[in-house]
Amino acid sequence: MPDVILRLALPSPLRRLFDYRAPAGIQVAALQPGMRLRVPFGRREIIGVLVEVTDRSDLPKEKLKAAIALLDEASPIPPGMFNLCLWTAQYYQHSLGDTLAWALPSLLRQGEPAEARQERFWSVTAGARSDDPRLARAPRQRDAFMALAQHPHGVAHTLLARLGLTKDSLDALLAKGLASVEVRGHAPAKRHAHWLAQPELPLNPEQRSAFEAVKAGFGHFHAFLLAGVTGSGKTEVYLQLIHQALEAGKQALVLIPEINLGPQTLLRFEQRFNARIALVHSAVNDRDRLDAWLAARDGDADIIIGTRSALFTPMRNPGLIIVDEEHDSSYKQQEGLRYHARDLAIVRARQDNIPVVLGSATPSLESLHNAHSGRYGLLRMEQRAGGAFPPRYLRLDVKSRPLDSGLSPPLQQAISQVLAQGQQVLVFLNRRGYAPTLLCHDCGWLSECPRCDARMTVHLRSGELRCHHCGYAAPRPRQCPACQSVDLRPVGAGTERAEDRLKTLFPDVPVWRVDRDSTSRKDAMAQLFTRVQRGEPCILVGTQMLAKGHHFPRVTLVAILDADGGLFSADFRAAERMAQLIVQVAGRAGRAEEPGRTIIQSHMADHPLLVQLTEEGYPAFATQALSERRAAGLPPFSHLALLRAEAHKPGQAEAFLEQACVEAERLRDTLQVLGVELLGPVPAPMERRAGRYRAQLLLQANARAPLHRLLSLWVLQLEQLPGGRQVRWALDVDPIDLY
Ligand code: ADP
Ligand code: ZN
Ligand code: ZN
Repeated sequence: MPDVILRLALPSPLRRLFDYRAPAGIQVAALQPGMRLRVPFGRREIIGVLVEVTDRSDLPKEKLKAAIALLDEASPIPPGMFNLCLWTAQYYQHSLGDTLAWALPSLLRQGEPAEARQERFWSVTAGARSDDPRLARAPRQRDAFMALAQHPHGVAHTLLARLGLTKDSLDALLAKGLASVEVRGHAPAKRHAHWLAQPELPLNPEQRSAFEAVKAGFGHFHAFLLAGVTGSGKTEVYLQLIHQALEAGKQALVLIPEINLGPQTLLRFEQRFNARIALVHSAVNDRDRLDAWLAARDGDADIIIGTRSALFTPMRNPGLIIVDEEHDSSYKQQEGLRYHARDLAIVRARQDNIPVVLGSATPSLESLHNAHSGRYGLLRMEQRAGGAFPPRYLRLDVKSRPLDSGLSPPLQQAISQVLAQGQQVLVFLNRRGYAPTLLCHDCGWLSECPRCDARMTVHLRSGELRCHHCGYAAPRPRQCPACQSVDLRPVGAGTERAEDRLKTLFPDVPVWRVDRDSTSRKDAMAQLFTRVQRGEPCILVGTQMLAKGHHFPRVTLVAILDADGGLFSADFRAAERMAQLIVQVAGRAGRAEEPGRTIIQSHMADHPLLVQLTEEGYPAFATQALSERRAAGLPPFSHLALLRAEAHKPGQAEAFLEQACVEAERLRDTLQVLGVELLGPVPAPMERRAGRYRAQLLLQANARAPLHRLLSLWVLQLEQLPGGRQVRWALDVDPIDLY
């Protein structure tokens, strides 16, 4: 009999599989990829996932350990999802075991049965009656009996209280044999006959043609870029497409950037449909997450809505994938498995042979490029659906104008006028805290972070200096640590400072700050938005939390305090991000009958990209930015991979990267890979962060295939490099941040 060797993916960073002998008494024929096994690993026991069954191993058979137990009777991971994980691991050059660990619900990784939660269900015993003589003198038990009898399928134990049932009376009924209790999984809620809980809006012509184009693609793979200005009614198009998918007996997967920022979107989905909606995001607890995953897998959820990781939710009847705000950088995971959920959504749609819609008012240059080159269908919506006016832009040159806590005098005037007209103002500043630096006026001391090459931000409310890069915090000093002077001055302005100044300037209207510091309480945001919706004059001041998803119909002035960061940053994506942010923030305003105006303060008010954006709009900006990228050979006209390394001592990370670079050059020669350039190693733009010294090596290629051929062999060598022991390193394929 040939040997049976099980090749498993284990939760390890190493890019290899691990061989085990089959556990005793296993039906080899019943083994399927994706089944989980408990195996010995060092001194521990861990859970691995079966990848293949083979009869050969590189290790001698007697050295192989036997797996301890098989945990599943069938693979909990459907083949399509398993393939997607294989593809992901390969593309991102990541270990398969760790990829599965990121992709699967954590309880599944911990060995929890892949079954819906078991619960106790109470019901009345068949044949029992409410006029049973034993209930005659027990009115409470009789009431309980009658309440329970209303539910022929039983009542879950956890829902008793909600129905006014007490455990005591049920126990009494149980003792009398009038009620019974049984343990089982939740009966899946039934599919509804009528999907719509709310009528659909009649689509305008632009919406209709977008809708028809995608609908015609049902049942096939096709990627669409829905480029619709803010308020053009993209969400309405998504809703009607989902309705079509549901009617066809299919499921829909909707990815959104951040769940807390899109409560209004979520509400619209819930209000529109009589559908079983599964939510998948980081605030959902492990058990609910597993249940959502199982329900989607088994076809017991109709719509799956979630953030980045929801991309890995299996669907029994996949019909449609939607990626809302596809340009949002939160779709890219920046640790561990550095995947991009938007890019994987395309891969997944192709595997499942279904359409995928990427929607945004400010599409990423990558997606626009794909649309221009014909890979994606381009659907444009240029009119605001509710008949509202598009925002108008005004560039305000603040060169040599005094800035008063970030606010120039003409801007203050504009705000005052709008408030006097009984309208609302939104002030945007992407910097939280009071001031980005504390400076000693006598000796020039600056509030530097002891662990990073960065300044600590002054936070007035908490009386602290805080580093926004590593989280280090210290009490705000009263005297200069260097010269003991008391003349310490905050330099520059953050949201706290703008808020304080606005309160002083406009004492008669409420000023509300929205940033990560102000809205740590869960419902604080919701309360605030309800108040803003009432429409009385007010000023909202905040960071990009204000830029996402919310509608402020009564805001008629948007002020962007500082657009310069995006214009002279070393990061080649900075201008794209700035443009997206400006357009998104501006899009919050004037959604109803009142037109909105956006004032942008800049020291470079004549910068060509800014001029193009504000005078011709985002598409013109994007065309210009794309031609600059093409000229510079930057993505999407080239492909990048970034090897990052960090170490406790200076020089270690670079030494490792030097070795890595030599290996890459050697491989490039051996494999005769053309068109892959190695740039670096160089220290990271912020060399020291959280006490570690960081460096990076960039690979730039004009085609993907040769780059990946090189990478897949290179990472295996990197695992072996002697210099790798002192450093933490990570390979980032298609990095979006070159830090
Ligand atoms: P987007 O997602 O593109 O920002 P929304 O779908 O949120 O746009 O639509 C913006 C506003 O226009 C919403 O208040 C929505 O109810 C309204 N709206 C959308 N489509 C229509 C339509 N066909 N007719 C009337 N109002 C619409
Ligand atoms: Zn000093
Ligand atoms: Zn720091």
